Amino acid sequence: MLLTRSLSTALLESEIDQINISLNGLSDTHYEQYTQRKIKVENLIEEVRYLCRNSEKTTIYIKCIKEHLTTEEQDLFLQIFSGYADKIYLEGLQPNWPQFEFDYIKVKYEKGHYGQELLQREVCPFIFYMMVVNSDGSISACVQDWNHELIIGNARSSTLLDIWNGPDMNKLRRSHLEKKRKDYQNCSSCPVLLHGCLDNIDPYAAHLLPYYQ
Ligand code: SF4
Repeated sequence: MLLTRSLSTALLESEIDQINISLNGLSDTHYEQYTQRKIKVENLIEEVRYLCRNSEKTTIYIKCIKEHLTTEEQDLFLQIFSGYADKIYLEGLQPNWPQFEFDYIKVKYEKGHYGQELLQREVCPFIFYMMVVNSDGSISACVQDWNHELIIGNARSSTLLDIWNGPDMNKLRRSHLEKKRKDYQNCSSCPVLLHGCLDNIDPYAAHLLPYYQ
């Protein structure tokens, strides 16, 4: 919503690898319904297309929630951004956030986020290859940490490398490898392990554990 020509230029000049854009509707009415924000979606689409047209070194990934669109709107979404974005995806609505109540969403979850078979994991693969820098500089162990329960450091006072290899991150990894992730409230109820994971490192837990002692 805040995208402008000058912001696009600044983002692209930073040569960031990838920008993900979640579009929350294709009409002003839908946008307001899902975000409680009044905007002109037409203008937003134009700004996103400008960003796409000018990105040489940055991959632009645009997604929309499939269940928020009619079949016609899904086709329109693909038409609007085909030839502009590097990646486009109609994402299935999934219960991926720990400690949220999803019962009111009337969607049958027969497949995962990426259309994969649903398979529960014990060990979270994400904490072995990503962490998240929050807007206040704090570092979360994963992107599902919406309530900042898994803070493992702060980018204002430590380097990312030190935090990545630091005691708090490794303690969390050990807990998962030892099948004790339920010690962490977010991890104990995290649905992304069933719905949003493509990797499964459960069979390697015993092999990995000595590296994090
Ligand atoms: S289990 Fe969920 S909350 Fe815990 S680290 Fe993995 S993604 Fe984050």
